Amino acid sequence: MILIEHATVLTLDRARRILSDGSVLVDGRDVVQVGPAATVLPPRTPDRVIDGRRRVVTPGFVDAHVHLTEHLSRGLMLDDVPVARYLPDWLLPLYSTVTPEEEAVAAQLACVEMIRTGTTTFCEAGTLFDVSAVAAAVEQVGMRAVLGRWTWDLEGQAGRMRQGTEETLALTDEMLAKVNGQADGRIAAWPLLLGFGTCSEALIRGAYALAERHGVGWGMMQRALHPSRPGRDTITLARLDVLGVLGPRTKLAHMVYVDDDDVARLAGRGVKVVHCPTAGLKHTKGLAAHGRFPEMVDAGVCVALGGDSGNGSNHFDMLRLMYLAATLYKDARHDVTVLPAETVLEMGTLRGAEALLLDDRIGSIEPGKRADLVLYDLDTPEWRPLLNPVNNLVYAASGASVRTVLIDGRVVLDDGRLTTLDERDLYERVERLSRAHVRRAGVPIESPWPVVS
Ligand SMILES: [Zn+2]
Repeated sequence: MILIEHATVLTLDRARRILSDGSVLVDGRDVVQVGPAATVLPPRTPDRVIDGRRRVVTPGFVDAHVHLTEHLSRGLMLDDVPVARYLPDWLLPLYSTVTPEEEAVAAQLACVEMIRTGTTTFCEAGTLFDVSAVAAAVEQVGMRAVLGRWTWDLEGQAGRMRQGTEETLALTDEMLAKVNGQADGRIAAWPLLLGFGTCSEALIRGAYALAERHGVGWGMMQRALHPSRPGRDTITLARLDVLGVLGPRTKLAHMVYVDDDDVARLAGRGVKVVHCPTAGLKHTKGLAAHGRFPEMVDAGVCVALGGDSGNGSNHFDMLRLMYLAATLYKDARHDVTVLPAETVLEMGTLRGAEALLLDDRIGSIEPGKRADLVLYDLDTPEWRPLLNPVNNLVYAASGASVRTVLIDGRVVLDDGRLTTLDERDLYERVERLSRAHVRRAGVPIESPWPVVS
């Protein structure tokens, strides 16, 4: 039993209470009491009491779309690479030669970065070769996750990544049976397809059927970059609707290019959307001009946030994603009321939980939900003065103020120290394996500026 007492608590509960002197009692993996400090009464002496007087406690963030593997080549891509060359010249050579060991190390690097910036749950975009290796790596770090295989059967396939429709569905079925529910239920597995245009209709229908049969969600991404580059997405939302695959267990990432009918379709079918603002900007998707995320939110679509990838977003820091989501559309619409900080914080927590079909377990601090909690240090300039904690969190805070993180009731970051693995050792492995990985792929490690030793 862990008691966090006398803290500022953003509960994200039904009433959206913010407790100025609140306590949270954790028993096992669950929150069992939360409320004003005087009302939280542990039935027995807690094993540990955390002094919350200089802490803000929030639910852990949910990052609903991340490419774990690309963290091992993070920052490799130079700014002079045309967006159209990303996949054929950089990503495919890297992806198709990566080893399970490298994917596992990339996953752990990504997990540590997420924990240190307040994220406790994520959904992967698809492990390339060995979901079990990645699941074991994620389990070791202690995160909550939805994992899956890199799944496609059409465009862009190369070498080891080539897959046929029947084969990839069979492998996905096998993976679901093996991985879903691992680590005491902390790790789920879903059919995760690559983008629109890389999967046949038979594969899409098959993935949806698998999701229904296993009682899980499934995901896919819209790849459209810009209207000046048509033909990239060869399937539309209208067509997906005809196929019968749009529903509450469907999660679609990116989704920059939608029209009014699409927004109504997404809302009507209960489809979950993941907005990836950092990757969208760097990939020049035209977010400010074309993104309809505020309109989706207004129409009642569940819009979550995603960090995307090591050469798109380049980071998995939800605080920076929230900052962009809260500012970008205000500026684009010349309207400060667009996507208020409170709405964006919901996107990073409650909506993320809904998108991953985990809203009965996570997303808020309430009795009966899992104890996925983040404690921020108030003794940092970004949190002072504490006049409006939501504004501090969305507009001012950085991951540097994350001190303690609990996932499933377990302290995985303890006053700044990771408890589940040796971070120094991880960074050494990352550095060593990334260079071998990039060289094997035949992709140059370059710098426009001279690197001297
Ligand atoms: Zn993506």
